[in-house]
Amino acid sequence: VEQRLHDAQTLHAIGTLAGGIAHDFNNILGAIRGNLVLALDSLPADHAARPPLAQIERASLRGRSLVRQILEFSRKEVGVLHLQPLQPLVEEAVSLLRPTLAPGVRLQTRLDAAAVWARVNASQIHQVLVNLCTNAWQALPKAGGEITVGLERLADGKVHLWVADDGAGMDAETQRRIFEPFFTTKPVDAGTGLGMSVVHGIVTAHGGTVEVDSAPGRGTTVHVHLPSAQGEAEAGGADPEDPQAELG
Ligand code: ADP
Repeated sequence: VEQRLHDAQTLHAIGTLAGGIAHDFNNILGAIRGNLVLALDSLPADHAARPPLAQIERASLRGRSLVRQILEFSRKEVGVLHLQPLQPLVEEAVSLLRPTLAPGVRLQTRLDAAAVWARVNASQIHQVLVNLCTNAWQALPKAGGEITVGLERLADGKVHLWVADDGAGMDAETQRRIFEPFFTTKPVDAGTGLGMSVVHGIVTAHGGTVEVDSAPGRGTTVHVHLPSAQGEAEAGGADPEDPQAELG
């Protein structure tokens, strides 16, 4: 498994480089967008320059979302970790995602009845779930399919979080390269190739691991394992801070 994950040093270097570029690019995009808004404001509603300017605006929005993903990918530190049960986090992510999915897509959860505690950065785990569910959704046929998000505490106390889909699955080459930044099999405007590298970065920073179980035509399950915090949880309970306050 460790072979399939990436050379941490290479990832680190790419992350630093990409983060620097993204940061500068973000400022450039800000200047473009700011002036675009000024230009649009000063033009009559039927001016011939409006459609191309609107096109520029759409492109700059795409650029902004790409830059955000790169910044997320290049972030090195895990931030503040809070000891908390993960069920509410999963439920929140799923209920935010559900309305954005196509009608034929069923998104369901399989949550351990007992509270599953972990020490996490809630907004980053939220990001992991969004990225995994987005990939799962994009792998489903047009007619729809099923996505399941599972959460359980294993016998050794470790946390097992998984996202399964019954979509297209992946060939061996894709599985080998899945955590590579900018590796994508999707069209340019659909995929950045950063989703799984972000997942890998966040989970690793939490001291966890990510594994992919997939076969073409059979669907995919991504397994995330996080370190146990059960002892701590039993000793002290939740941190006083409201973990939900970090979301958003
Ligand atoms: P992106 O989704 O932007 O392409 P990712 O890093 O999230 O970037 O994923 C990289 C590639 O891994 C995808 O382009 C796709 O080929 C493959 N992949 C990821 N998740 C799944 C999945 N659930 N089912 C099938 N293929 C997947």
